[in-house]
Amino acid sequence: MKQLHTIAQCKQWIEAAKTSGQTIGFVPTMGYLHEGHLALVNAAKQENDLVIMSIFVNPTQFGPGEDYDVYPRDENRDLALAKKVGVDVVFTPTIDEMYPKETTIQIVPGAQKNVLCGKSRPTHFDGVLQVILKLFNIVTPTTAYFGMKDAQQLAIIETFMEAFNFSTTIRRVPTIREEDGLAKSSRNVHLTEIERLEAPAIYKALQSGQALFRKTKNTAQTIETVRQQIETHTSGKIDYVELLAYPQLTPIDAHTTEVIIATAVHFAHTRLIDNIILQIEDEEHVSNDDE
Ligand code: AMP
Repeated sequence: MKQLHTIAQCKQWIEAAKTSGQTIGFVPTMGYLHEGHLALVNAAKQENDLVIMSIFVNPTQFGPGEDYDVYPRDENRDLALAKKVGVDVVFTPTIDEMYPKETTIQIVPGAQKNVLCGKSRPTHFDGVLQVILKLFNIVTPTTAYFGMKDAQQLAIIETFMEAFNFSTTIRRVPTIREEDGLAKSSRNVHLTEIERLEAPAIYKALQSGQALFRKTKNTAQTIETVRQQIETHTSGKIDYVELLAYPQLTPIDAHTTEVIIATAVHFAHTRLIDNIILQIEDEEHVSNDDE
């Protein structure tokens, strides 16, 4: 496995790979790898000749007072894991390499950023699109892989790709969980022992919400049930529980075919997100009358 630090090295490697007709699967990450990231690599390996992973804790997607400084990092461990799972190239640029000077141009998502995480992290998705655009221009991937755990990010990236005619195909990879249901996340290391025991209640609450929504199609009641379960079984403070059409991230209506039930919960030292996406069968009727 090769480790490349500079954009020039990376572009050179990509050019050589493309000249020899090879397809490139791309897995962008912020490192501190876990099985969720490795699932993206596995998906990429199945569909491409070569797999490149970036590891870059992107400062522009963290707001003031967020966890940029304490975001978990362990490059040596990441490199060993990436090698083990068969990544061909790891791109690990420095901040100066990615952002040598202040930019005056920003890419700002539309209404999809005004819900869910975007409400409490108003500039987060601007930073995500900034780094994705830069990484895609450097890597020019055939296909890129994103986790459904970050469902809002994925929806915004899909919209961005379509709106600006990117040639890269985006693949959605299902959320990988611990045995007790907690979604794997680099941030889980910041949970206290007690919080770690409580945290699986988040997914259980989402599952109850899913079952209730399937039965009742009642948005408000579903949200309330998920809220109550998280409040009862964890010491976390709920940032939001929302139920929206996916990937539009708008209120559901009679035409909605996919629904996301999503939540973010603050614990003492970290904030966790999770979601469930469910399909609405043709014959099922959905309305928002209950709101
Ligand atoms: P991150 O390093 O947290 O920025 O995540 C990098 C990529 O891995 C993103 O596309 C995430 O959605 C994805 N990812 C993170 N956690 C999981 C998980 N538990 N299951 C599947 N994909 C994940």
